[in-house]
Amino acid sequence: MTSPRTYPLPAVELAGLVDDYLYGCQPVADCGVCTALAAELTGAREAKDHGTAYDAVAEIRNHPHPVKRKP
Ligand SMILES: [Zn+2]
Repeated sequence: MTSPRTYPLPAVELAGLVDDYLYGCQPVADCGVCTALAAELTGAREAKDHGTAYDAVAEIRNHPHPVKRKP
């Protein structure tokens, strides 16, 4: 009798195929909040903490910066 697997397979990692889509963002260089979030993102990605990494990216993308008007 065969024994069917009753547990999930390990997570599949798509070798960078979706990384730009999920984690692509442009933190503003002179913004303290963006800088802190970028550091959090780097640390979370190194720790493979994908939920925290995505939260940091979403905050960077949504962080408001006033548009400088030309005089
Ligand atoms: Zn910012």
